[in-house]
Order: sequence, then structure tokens, then C-alpha cells
Amino acid sequence: MQTQADVRHDWTEAEIQALFDLPFNDLLFRAQTVHRQHFNPNEVQVSTLLSIKTGACPEDCKYCPQSAHYDTGLEKQRLMEVEAVLAKAKQAKAAGSTRFCMGAAWKHPTDRDMPYVLEMVKGVKELGLETCMTLGMLKEHQADQLAEAGLDYYNHNLDTSPEFYDKIITTRTYQDRLDTLGHVRDAGMKICSGGILGMGETANDRIGLLKQLANLPQQPESVPINMLVKVEGTPLENVEDLDPLEFVRNIAVARILMPKSHVRLSAGREQMSDEMQAMTFFAGANSIFYGECLLTTPNPETNRDLQLFKRLGINVEQRIEQTDAEQEEAITRNLQARKDDALFYDAVN
Ligand code: SF4
Repeated sequence: MQTQADVRHDWTEAEIQALFDLPFNDLLFRAQTVHRQHFNPNEVQVSTLLSIKTGACPEDCKYCPQSAHYDTGLEKQRLMEVEAVLAKAKQAKAAGSTRFCMGAAWKHPTDRDMPYVLEMVKGVKELGLETCMTLGMLKEHQADQLAEAGLDYYNHNLDTSPEFYDKIITTRTYQDRLDTLGHVRDAGMKICSGGILGMGETANDRIGLLKQLANLPQQPESVPINMLVKVEGTPLENVEDLDPLEFVRNIAVARILMPKSHVRLSAGREQMSDEMQAMTFFAGANSIFYGECLLTTPNPETNRDLQLFKRLGINVEQRIEQTDAEQEEAITRNLQARKDDALFYDAVN
């Protein structure tokens, strides 16, 4: 479990701005120094992402080809069968992944969906992989069910700054997202949460996003930083490109603010040259998605990743076991806290 020593939760915009204002080489040197204090600099964690239910999402995220609000020609797919998901997980494990992430294009799962999803978590866990899911908003009891099934991580991105948020999504609020993250934490699971750059936001918005993530009560264990993939048919298809060096700066600042988190290169890696990816690893990125499909946008072929790792002398980080005992302890702590709350509530009423 992440210890809180050396991790600050009181970053101000001015302090983050000062990091962005550093000369590029100074910023990268500082980020690499922080990185080396907490991680093996020559290891990258590798996850595989599978879309278990694709398209027809009622949300209106302006970057997303899966939203039912935009016509992107995406082929829709109902919730996959549990067996088919487990077959994909086995392939991912054979290809060297240590974590298997399952994503469903839902506003939130219904209680009718939950039994299938819980079976998927249990099955993937039994294969010896870490498990991660992204299913949209969660209610408290759904987060508890996922934790009890053994889910290690829940992904729910903040996407951007609170100020820019309603230019990108109108069907749910920033607070909705924070509430889901709260339920995930309370249930004893780890959090994967980050955002997307290059959506037409300002430099201040990028600062605002990193500030939100860093100042959460407990920083996310995994922080995906995505570069927008402009998909035809979405409202952001013609937005101006973000300077690639600005993207690298964001990775470096994320590394400094969240020294113990895995900073993940996510969507948009396809468009990055090998040299740019190498620079992001130097800036402190130490996690990638691996596999041919990153939900519905193309991901560099796995082979290209392996070749790049070889050229850079990078090894795949082996799974850090959170023992079953540790996970059980987290869940028991949560249940006990709930009981205590209930007793307190009963006592005062
Ligand atoms: S990002 Fe997720 S919630 Fe938003 S439209 Fe796409 S699938 Fe739905």
C-alpha cells in the first residue's frame, strides 16, 4: 500500500506553474531524480486493456467515439461473455501483461450487470493477473461488491480541470467523478485516475487537472496521461494539436507531484515517435498499455513496444503482489468502518 511519507497533498497552482516554467532540461532532471527515488528507472509496468462492452454510451464525452451522441461508425458490441473475456486475459498473460483492464461503455453498471462483471474479476484474478475495471460511475454497494470479488484497481478519470470540464462533458459532473473515486477508496481498492491532454484546454487547465489528482486525499496509484486521439465524427476531431514537448512537460510534472504513482502513457501513444516515448520514460512515465487495441483507438503493435524496450534497456515490471491477506485486511477495515458509522448513526438518532 502507498505510504504517505514524502507525498504532498497541498500543491498550489503557483507551485505547479513554477515547475512548468523550469527550463526543459532542469524539469526533466528533477523528474528523473524523483523517479529514481521511488522506482527502478529501467522498468515499465505493462497492462492490457479489453473493451468488454463497446459503444452506445449515453454520456456525451466530446473526445469519445463510444458516445451515442456522435456518429463515428464504431461497431457496437454488447457485454462480452465471461468465457470470452477470460480467453483474452489468458492471451494477455501469455504476451507478458501483468494487469488486465476491462472497460465497459456505461454511464454506470446496473445491478443486473454486476454478477457477470464480478465473475470476470474472479476469473481474471484466478489466472494470476492484477485486475482493473472501468465501468463508469459506481454506487457505494457496487464498489464494495467489486472489492470483495478481488478487483485491484478501478479506473475513473477526472479528464481535465474542474473549470474546463463542462466544455467536454455535460451528462455528469466533476463532483460525480470525485464521489465515485471516494466510493472506490472507501471499499479498499486502488485508484487509476488521470486525464486527457490536447482537447483545446489551456495550460492553466492542465495545471488544474494535475493539482486535483495530486491533492486527492490519497493520490491515485496509477495516473494515465492521455494525448487526445482525434476521432472523426466527435466534436474534437479538428481541435489544434498539443505541442509534444508540452506533453512531455506534463508527464514530468505529474511525476514530481505524484512521486509514488505509476504514471501511464495511455491513448495517443500510436501517434508518438519512439524518440518521444523514450523522452516520456525519462520524464517519469513508467506504465503503458500493451496490445493492439486501447479500447477502440489503435495502439502501437506489441512488437514495436518490445523492440523499443529492448533498444532502451527497459524491462517489464513484474507484478507486485498485494497479498490476499493485505486485500482482505483493506476490505475488513472498510466493513468495520461502515459498522462503526452505522452504530454511531444509530446512537445519535
Ligand atoms: S468516455 Fe466513457 S463515459 Fe464517456 S462517452 Fe466514452 S465510454 Fe461513455
